[in-house]
Amino acid sequence: MKTLERQLAYDSFLEQLRTAASCVLLLDYDGTLAPFNVDRSLALPYPEVPPLISRIMERGTRVILISGRPAREVILLSRIYPQPEVWGSHGLERLRADGSYQVAPLPREHHEALSRAARVLRMDGLNERLEIKPGGIAVHWRGLSRQAALEIDGRVRQLCRPLLSEFPLDFLEFDGGLEIRVPVRDKGDAVWAILGESDPNAAVAYLGDDQTDEDAFRALKGKGLTVLVRPQSRATAADVWLQPPEELVRFLEDWLQAAGGQL
Ligand SMILES: [Mg+2]
Repeated sequence: MKTLERQLAYDSFLEQLRTAASCVLLLDYDGTLAPFNVDRSLALPYPEVPPLISRIMERGTRVILISGRPAREVILLSRIYPQPEVWGSHGLERLRADGSYQVAPLPREHHEALSRAARVLRMDGLNERLEIKPGGIAVHWRGLSRQAALEIDGRVRQLCRPLLSEFPLDFLEFDGGLEIRVPVRDKGDAVWAILGESDPNAAVAYLGDDQTDEDAFRALKGKGLTVLVRPQSRATAADVWLQPPEELVRFLEDWLQAAGGQL
């Protein structure tokens, strides 16, 4: 965090946390709580993060993870106990802290569109790079050279473009890949839904790193603190920029203390 304006936004939010009757902490997972790992199945959180989040929950904050990954995968990787609520697949899935699960039903044409997209991508030899999830197919290229990534990006767009003119599909860019997605919900919709069921005076913050988090930043703008967590800053709608892991850990420690907990 560098500028005075950012520091003021941060400090005034902490002040609000100290007195708020209700606190809600919304967290993206990959790149925010967990550093990037070429093997997605090994993207574990920074070691200080799970115990701090557990203690923040103990102090009464409602913690919700909002991720592009399927919800159950986030639970397994995040190692936070007791398990927090997770909105997965950009908000299409909701896995509550008590284990109950909902997934938004998709119309038949969305299923057909995604199944045809999966087929053309597999026929082009991309099977190993595909992640099939509710409402989308992600093509991953983490760990590849920029040139190789651009080549795959171009191939995927070319292969799927005919489907985009026939079906309601979109491309969604994220760090390390491209998703072909039904444009039903995004992380901003998840934030709106959570705000709708929260105390209107709740202290709410959202932490995220990726382009897909910008929808959430815009949804929360003016109603809570929005935080870009990323080694390098970039153009963003977020109020504050934190460099992980040190500034992220400091933020969680500040939250814990503002909520009356001890370090
Ligand atoms: Mg992320």
